[in-house]
Amino acid sequence: MSARKDRFALVAHGGAGAPGPAAERPERRHGMVAALRLGGLVLRRGGTALEAVAATVAALEDHPLFNAGYGSLLNSEGSVEMDASLMVAEPIDETLDADAHRNHHHELEYRVSAGAVAAISRVRNPILLAREVMDRSPHILMVGAGAERFARGAGLTMVKPDEMISERARERWRIRQAQRLAEAEDADGHGTVGAVAIDVRGALAAATSTGGVPGKLYGRVGDSAIIGAGTFAHKYGAASATGQGEAIIVTALCREATMAMAEATPRRVAQEAIEELIASTSAEAGIILVDRKARMGYAHNAATMQVGTYDSVRGLQHLWLEPIRKRQRAVIGVAP
Ligand code: ASP
Repeated sequence: MSARKDRFALVAHGGAGAPGPAAERPERRHGMVAALRLGGLVLRRGGTALEAVAATVAALEDHPLFNAGYGSLLNSEGSVEMDASLMVAEPIDETLDADAHRNHHHELEYRVSAGAVAAISRVRNPILLAREVMDRSPHILMVGAGAERFARGAGLTMVKPDEMISERARERWRIRQAQRLAEAEDADGHGTVGAVAIDVRGALAAATSTGGVPGKLYGRVGDSAIIGAGTFAHKYGAASATGQGEAIIVTALCREATMAMAEATPRRVAQEAIEELIASTSAEAGIILVDRKARMGYAHNAATMQVGTYDSVRGLQHLWLEPIRKRQRAVIGVAP
């Protein structure tokens, strides 16, 4: 069953990780709420889930306190390399699908499309470039200088790489370089952004954008650029992840979670996805989900995760989500 015609929902995250400086929390909350309002308005006016997640993520990319777009963390060389991706699953227009109906296909069929970029430094909003790759190229993933040339051709706002570096990000990088302290790492490990949504027509979309993990090597690409890992949308729902990208890639976290929504609620799937990730990798990560009934779910096992929701029933909500309780890992013993 798909969502009721008038229902829409949007969930966004501001990264799972260390809580960061307490003094920054009110401004981070403010940034998240403003981004959700923007995306929520798109949905309320009958806009698409894809427009809503792209608008939400682009607003968070522009905010210097999030680790995406302007304000991204710096890599080991002290420069910005950003990753982003988005995906949409749209119900195929029933009028075009008359044959399917005649053949008694009761389940709606969906068309999926995706776009992604990795290791880019000269584009103001990586998520908008991911969208251009999806809409205007025959490809799904473009990287580095080639992706930037494509961005220029598409008329996106281009910047000098240094213009993407906020004073805050530069300062954090200096501290890391000088001290190599866990403290600096803690304060940094937070702030990737993502959003998932369903619109009134039942289309599902997901988008994710990041500057990557602290201390990453020059050239490293994380899950946020990988469809199926950091971002996924299909007929059962949509997912966006945050956390240790390498673990999210090997577990294909967002694809697994999206397909699991065929059988279980987003709430349960989010919880189980993180439990399984802990069991197989011991990594820290978080995930947000929406399903085709406009139900929402989120879970993480880091210190905190910033989550916001906007739906047609409850309006806007913001929370600093507590981690799931890490289940005691089963000890497999040999019977005496
Ligand atoms: N998942 C991101 C990456 O590995 C980082 C994060 O979400 O904090 O690039």
